[in-house]
Amino acid sequence: MLPRSAIETREELAGGASVEEYVLSLLERIRREDPKINSFITICDGPAIEAAKALDRKRREGGKLGPLFGLAVAVKDNICTKGVRTTCGSRMLEGFVPPYDATVIRRLKGADAIVIGKTNMDEFAMGSSTENSYFGPTRNPLDPERVAGGSSGGSAAAVASAFAPLALGSDTGGSVRCPASFCSIVGLKPTYGTVSRYGLISYANSLEQIGPMASNIGDCELLFDVIRGYDPRDNTSLPQKRVEIGEGGLRIGVPKEFFMEGVQEAVEKCVRDFLDKMGSLVEVEEISLPSLAYALPTYYIIAMSEASSNLARYDGIRYGLRGEDGSDWNETYCNNRGMGFGQEVKRRIILGTYALSAGYRNRYYIRAQKIRTLIREDFERAFKEFDLIAGPTMPVLPFRIGEKLDPVEVYMCDIETVPANLAGIPAISVPCGMSQGLPVGLQLMAPPFGEELLFRAGRIVEELA
Ligand code: GLN
Repeated sequence: MLPRSAIETREELAGGASVEEYVLSLLERIRREDPKINSFITICDGPAIEAAKALDRKRREGGKLGPLFGLAVAVKDNICTKGVRTTCGSRMLEGFVPPYDATVIRRLKGADAIVIGKTNMDEFAMGSSTENSYFGPTRNPLDPERVAGGSSGGSAAAVASAFAPLALGSDTGGSVRCPASFCSIVGLKPTYGTVSRYGLISYANSLEQIGPMASNIGDCELLFDVIRGYDPRDNTSLPQKRVEIGEGGLRIGVPKEFFMEGVQEAVEKCVRDFLDKMGSLVEVEEISLPSLAYALPTYYIIAMSEASSNLARYDGIRYGLRGEDGSDWNETYCNNRGMGFGQEVKRRIILGTYALSAGYRNRYYIRAQKIRTLIREDFERAFKEFDLIAGPTMPVLPFRIGEKLDPVEVYMCDIETVPANLAGIPAISVPCGMSQGLPVGLQLMAPPFGEELLFRAGRIVEELA
């Protein structure tokens, strides 16, 4: 199903193939196939064709061609795009058209890439299956009865369906890696502070990063190199560093906590068999990171607390959905927010408000912050001995749409991915095999700024898979 790589396509386009024809053929494919998958909320036909024509002109005139020359990129719909509606998968932002581009979008355009469309997602990025979207669920291209993962499900499905060779997602607790794993593609959550969050609509800002998604490691690295970089507009942006990588053999630690309760046997077997295979090329050793047992509740308390504060701005007064005006401001707010937000978002605002409220703050939020520090320290210790940490990306195989109705059951899907967000370290999901005809992803984690290490190990995974 997967077409030529982005790298090969760029060579062809830079060498003289028509960008306009390439974009038209993708748009045609999207129109034909996407009604079955629902990976896009908005297709950017007009602007994409205009951009393609401009790039063809630039090449004819002998201009300098950018590293993503002519390539189509599918962009998660929580990243602001000037002049193109940005919905965050919610009804709340109805009618909102950002007057500016997010920094990552400016970087894409500066590299001669083309935004082909805005992709479907769980409302405000809250979810692991893209079933919480106001615009309906995204289906998994490998099995349309199943979920594509989430919350960046549209971006992963668009790459897996060859609607675009590259995509951007955002990852607060796994939202790039989960759908990458479920759709059998590559997805990276970069080191916190590496990719600008300016123009990313915040869910839980101490945890999230925008990340690249592609069908292979080389393409993922190509896109990452374009979007990374210090940005004075994001006050959590960091000066860029690169971890030196030696030529020596890699040492990989596999925490036994990654195979605790909640991990399906089929997934465990597939990942363990693969790690055994890797053992012939790199050193693989079982380790223990005891604090990981508390990662999931810690994550959900922090994420919901931050969400309750970040989402307070949506009142329908200045922009977004406006319901009927009530007799006072409280009633008007209630009308607007009651209509605009879906159930999961409301649940999290209420729980997050509770965790932050006087009397409970110490018991929940402050405590979670302390455990977050322990988790970070556990990783720091492990990285003194090991270059990388590995485990499954998802504890379960892609499930059926509508199968998981209990919210806690869905939260449990994040047990493997949230530790990297809590620690701020980079993590990648790379396809490592199939089980029961469904894809399994291997997750690799590195110390801060260790993305090159992830790509190096990811190439080994690609060769062995
Ligand atoms: N599933 C997690 C959550 O719902 C992660 C979401 C994300 O990374 N945006 O919070």
